[in-house]
Amino acid sequence: MSTRAQRLQALLPQEDNGMPVDGALIVSGANRRYLTGFPSSAGYVLVTREQAWFLVDFRYYEAASKNATGCQVVMFHRVEDTLAQLIKEHHIRGVLFESEGMTLAQAAWMEQILASQGAQAVKTGTLDSLLWQLRMYKTQEEIACIKEAQRITEEAFEQVLPLIQEGVTERELALQIEMGMRRRGAEGVAFDLIVVAGAKGSLCHGVPDDNQVHRGDFITMDIGARVNGYNSDMTRTVALGHVSEEQRKVYNIVLQAQQLGIAAAKPGAVCGDVDKVVRDYIYNAGYEGYFGHGTGHAVGLEIHESPRFSIGMKTVLAPGMVMTVEPGIYLPDRFGVRIEDMVAITEDGCEDLTNEPKELIEL
Ligand code: ZN
Ligand code: ZN
Repeated sequence: MSTRAQRLQALLPQEDNGMPVDGALIVSGANRRYLTGFPSSAGYVLVTREQAWFLVDFRYYEAASKNATGCQVVMFHRVEDTLAQLIKEHHIRGVLFESEGMTLAQAAWMEQILASQGAQAVKTGTLDSLLWQLRMYKTQEEIACIKEAQRITEEAFEQVLPLIQEGVTERELALQIEMGMRRRGAEGVAFDLIVVAGAKGSLCHGVPDDNQVHRGDFITMDIGARVNGYNSDMTRTVALGHVSEEQRKVYNIVLQAQQLGIAAAKPGAVCGDVDKVVRDYIYNAGYEGYFGHGTGHAVGLEIHESPRFSIGMKTVLAPGMVMTVEPGIYLPDRFGVRIEDMVAITEDGCEDLTNEPKELIEL
């Protein structure tokens, strides 16, 4: 089995936009972790066609030496010296840079180091696409981490349901879910948890605050945990007490749209078409203008990855991709509903990684 760094090496072009390419420099946290299997808040990965180095400072050297995989761990005192030396020794002329994961300041600094050795930075976005080509397809091990994160998420969700009572605040519910996930072994939350109740439910990315839950409210919880760097993502909307006819109708439209989306998520399907199936259903049900976000996104080391289920997205689904399907209907100042599952694309369809039931719960 080849390492991830070797798979990136195999994809390195000879040249890009007329410039020679002898290597790639990776600075972003997620891509560094992907290539080395090692989490760190700082460090650099330099990959050439023959070798891969993980440059870390003293704080990470011991742990990285033991745990990083697929690359030679090198401790630096001044990264400019170590990098310049590697570039010189290995006759590197051109280095692909990340466009998405690098700040302008970082790029300017790294470019200077390269220039001191007569080498050039290649800032064409090519490295980002190469890394997405790899990260898009999850291995069984990666999917196992996502499943474990999802299992923890569901346990924390179920444990919070009895706490949803008249007067409880969104903040309290979000805190209880987070504690429940950490207690069960999550290394953290996948993102700032969303818990919104009643009229706030129309804010798809609302922030939990002192807003209280009341009878007849929908409560939307968009939550996820992180395990070994991998994230889970689930949304459920539940009700406290009985809901109105209209609330029930909206809930069922979202649920039906979500199920249509999951049925459409299979190898060979175009991402934009999956979005269209879901969007058309909601629009035709009379809610055009009330579903303003994409239908879903890939999940992995980052909570929002490529590809996405959005209008016009041309990427074709293939086995190994892990995607969310998360339509919603948001009625300003009244209420909102969103239902979100994660699915892994398989050889003949998809596996729903979310086991939590979706029938409307009236607590
Ligand atoms: Zn979500
Ligand atoms: Zn999501």
